[in-house]
Amino acid sequence: MKTIHIHDLTFQLLISRHEIEKEVLRVAKEISHSYAGKELVILPILKGAFMFTADLVRHISVPQTLHFVTLSTYGDGTSSTGKVNHIQGLESLDLAGKHVLIVEDIVDSGFSISFLQKSLHTQKAASIEVATLMYKPKAFQGENLPRFKGFEIANDFVVGYGMDYAQRGRELPDVYVKVGEKEA
Ligand code: 5GP
Ligand code: MG
Repeated sequence: MKTIHIHDLTFQLLISRHEIEKEVLRVAKEISHSYAGKELVILPILKGAFMFTADLVRHISVPQTLHFVTLSTYGDGTSSTGKVNHIQGLESLDLAGKHVLIVEDIVDSGFSISFLQKSLHTQKAASIEVATLMYKPKAFQGENLPRFKGFEIANDFVVGYGMDYAQRGRELPDVYVKVGEKEA
């Protein structure tokens, strides 16, 4: 099994680019079907969702606009802090009457998406849903899991396909899971 090192940690291949491609296509079809005849405002959460978003929107067949939001919870560690310490991109955003789709790389505790959903509460959007490539049901503490979801994974730390470890690994086309410390 393919192993890589990032900073002080060792990671092993978990989900290949081919599996990701198939799943992204499946999720995109589900979204296109659900919003048939409607228009979407897509709100990807940066930085992690940049790659998933780029692949996903190419296969969403309803009219759409994109508006990027930056939000961070993780810092440089490998577990969720449960605190959103930064949110950017909601200024001059008018979502009244719009169908909004938040796009996330991975949902862990669910605090990030719930924070963003609360921040959008005053906007009077027609609907607000979440699409995520990955989610960790055992870590989730929110009320409802995202409406559109890809891979269910264990409560482990992953990198690649947009997701980082201390800002590294985002460019990897496959997803890797942490298996331990790097040997000296
Ligand atoms: P939550 O707020 O749901 O606990 O965490 C969501 C955010 O934390 C995601 O947007 C993602 O940026 C980051 N995150 C959660 N789990 C992982 C993981 O396993 N690996 C990486 N790289 N980031 C994660
Ligand atoms: Mg994120």
